[in-house]
Amino acid sequence: MAVKVAIVGRPNVGKSTLFNRLVGKRLALVDDRPGVTRDRRYAEGAIGDLPLTLIDTAGYEDVTDESLEARMRAQTEAAIEDADLILFMVDAREGVTPLDRIFADRLRKIEKPVILLANKSESRESGGGVGEAHGLGFGEPVAISAEHGEGMADLYAAVAAAA
Ligand code: GDP
Ligand code: MG
Repeated sequence: MAVKVAIVGRPNVGKSTLFNRLVGKRLALVDDRPGVTRDRRYAEGAIGDLPLTLIDTAGYEDVTDESLEARMRAQTEAAIEDADLILFMVDAREGVTPLDRIFADRLRKIEKPVILLANKSESRESGGGVGEAHGLGFGEPVAISAEHGEGMADLYAAVAAAA
């Protein structure tokens, strides 16, 4: 059976871009505006020869009455509840933000494997963000570029080891 993998993190880090790459079709909506994915999306995909059921999580910025944190919690909780393995994505160019730390505090408490991804790592200048991500306490981040398909062999190795 395919390993169920949830991609979580704050809006605009590139979750849907990775989801699309691993699914191989443009099923998830990618948009420059943060929080544009409204609902969790499930799709069958793969990394290398490893079949995966992928869960793309929504952003939480289309907030009306709920607090930001409540919205984040509902989205993330549902996904991590269902998943076997969590891909926690941050943006290596922007570095670690307070919202990333809210996610990290939550994910640190779960008993499922969490792989930290430092996305947007295609440029050499992103090195600082990767270092900051290391400080989140999930071990060495896997530096990837979801958009350019870089770091996929390292991601494969990390997923295969954790699954
Ligand atoms: P989400 O809100 O986390 O699902 O983020 P999206 O997948 O919608 O991506 C947000 C923005 O980041 C879009 O403009 C993407 O094209 C861009 N993006 C995603 N991955 C990368 C990457 O590896 N490098 C760069 N430079 N931009 C990326
Ligand atoms: Mg998205």
